[in-house]
Amino acid sequence: MTDTKSQKHEHKTYQNEVQNDKVLENGLIHRIILPLPFPQVQQINTYIVGRKNFILVDTGIRTDESYNILLAYLTKKNIRHLDGIYITHGHVDHFGAAQKLIKDGIADNRVFIHENEKSNINNEYDEALYGNYLKRYGIPAEILEMMRYTSAFFDMMADRLDLDHASFLSHNMKIDYDGGTFEVIRTPGHTSGSVCLYDREKGFMLSGDTLLSRLSPNPLLDLNIDGGRRKSLVEYISSIDVLYNMDFKTVYPGHYEIIHDHKALIKNLLTFHYKRMMRIHNIIKQKPMTPYEITGNLFKKLQQMDVFLAASEVIGHLDLLEQHDMIQSFEKDGLLYYTAV
Ligand SMILES: [Zn+2]
Ligand SMILES: [Zn+2]
Repeated sequence: MTDTKSQKHEHKTYQNEVQNDKVLENGLIHRIILPLPFPQVQQINTYIVGRKNFILVDTGIRTDESYNILLAYLTKKNIRHLDGIYITHGHVDHFGAAQKLIKDGIADNRVFIHENEKSNINNEYDEALYGNYLKRYGIPAEILEMMRYTSAFFDMMADRLDLDHASFLSHNMKIDYDGGTFEVIRTPGHTSGSVCLYDREKGFMLSGDTLLSRLSPNPLLDLNIDGGRRKSLVEYISSIDVLYNMDFKTVYPGHYEIIHDHKALIKNLLTFHYKRMMRIHNIIKQKPMTPYEITGNLFKKLQQMDVFLAASEVIGHLDLLEQHDMIQSFEKDGLLYYTAV
């Protein structure tokens, strides 16, 4: 139950949000900006697509605040039903409210997502496995504890999504919606099963977190069920290389502003990663270092969870350097060292 004061507050927030909402592509797309309680990113863009029948692309989290803004928007626009929920990738901000929308009868039980996102959706991670990796990289054990808290926090942002009836999206798959057709573009990197939805005829694409106007999408240290580590940044760079060569009039991202010049954005991203890669190369020219030591050299004064994010980035750039045969690694006393060649 909310008291009058917080109802007023919610109403005010909603008013502010709605002012930011836009009906786009001649009424075909509604963008709804929903709030997020994360320090790095405070809002998510969700999209309702269609003329008379509607699909939802990404859902926001399941908190009352976010959910009520979404429902109020549907009511205001007289959108009574959602035919299906498409999830660009399995992060809580993108799927958290899906199960609730189905349970409340607002959306059909038709969930579309890439199969590789199952472990993200289920918030599965093998702590022992991560522990081993972090240890080898020289990262202190407290970070693992932080990851446990973060994981529990993320769990609160989503109702467990039942994927028993889900349909799995694959590259080039065509999806007809009321008003057009999407092609599924697989863009692994940000997560393993990230997808973009591209309406080729109209020239727009919904990009999830693969392209963002303000934030470099952060590919995290990501272990596969089989214990191997995914080379997130290497995957990400080749995904955005592909997108660079495509033509989009408009890209609708999962956060922040709409993108009108994706080529300039991708060029900036590639330059950023290239520079960062060369900086790390310079750092390890001095002496062999563990990923954790490199992280400390690169970023001063990191807070706990930021260590994990920063180390993930460094590991990504080490993968890129390895891909270019610019470094070598060796193991000593259970630690992994990198050295420039
Ligand atoms: Zn994400
Ligand atoms: Zn996101």
